[in-house]
Amino acid sequence: MRLLVFTDLDNCLLDHDTYDWRPAMPALNRLRALGAEVILTTSKTAAEALPLQGEIGLAGAVIAENGGLIVWADGRRRWLGRPVSEIREALDEAAAEAGAGIHPFGRMSVEEVAARTSLPPERAPLALARESSEPFVLLTPEREGALRTALEARGIRLTRGGRFHHALAHEGKHAAVALLIEEARAAGPAETIGLGDGLNDEGFLRLVDSPIVMPGAHAAILMERLPQALLAPAAGPAGWNEAVLMRLDRANWTG
Ligand SMILES: [Mg+2]
Repeated sequence: MRLLVFTDLDNCLLDHDTYDWRPAMPALNRLRALGAEVILTTSKTAAEALPLQGEIGLAGAVIAENGGLIVWADGRRRWLGRPVSEIREALDEAAAEAGAGIHPFGRMSVEEVAARTSLPPERAPLALARESSEPFVLLTPEREGALRTALEARGIRLTRGGRFHHALAHEGKHAAVALLIEEARAAGPAETIGLGDGLNDEGFLRLVDSPIVMPGAHAAILMERLPQALLAPAAGPAGWNEAVLMRLDRANWTG
């Protein structure tokens, strides 16, 4: 039986502030021993996620930009949605129509992205290498509904991650996760675990056999919407570690 683990990064496998993942090593080692595939499922760009995947020692697919891009282990890439240039144009138009103040990534300097994300300065340019989604700061939160409507009229979705709003033209993380689950199950039986903390994670947490919600600002809403989910004992990689080990123990996955 194949085991696929789809995981969000910030506040999940990575510490929200330090981006450290090492407290999750015991669970990652056990997953490796089981031959499980850990699939980073993130709003980050492929340029950010792929080096991180290498650093953590994972070998499998990566879902970047909230599902806008899948990169397989053999290097194949598939883009879902529309190119970022079109999304930026539609976002500007929609914001003007909705009377919403926005500050998108496309207009931020490397220094500003580093400051807003607490990313080390050498990693910030990678966060700017967008291909199929645009993160932005919504300066007028009271215009969120109007902005959403104006974006939807242009075929663009609005979603929320831990730090930013995101405009995208694809369905979100869950469509990419569904595609990979379908691909795995075409080859044989596969069990799936998912870990996330954001509203943009809800869709894929709904798809997996074992959803795990990480504590954070949206945990209460997620737990209400996903009553079958396990709430991790803590946020970040330490909680990720414990929750995954608990889940493996409960299912008697040993390796
Ligand atoms: Mg997150």
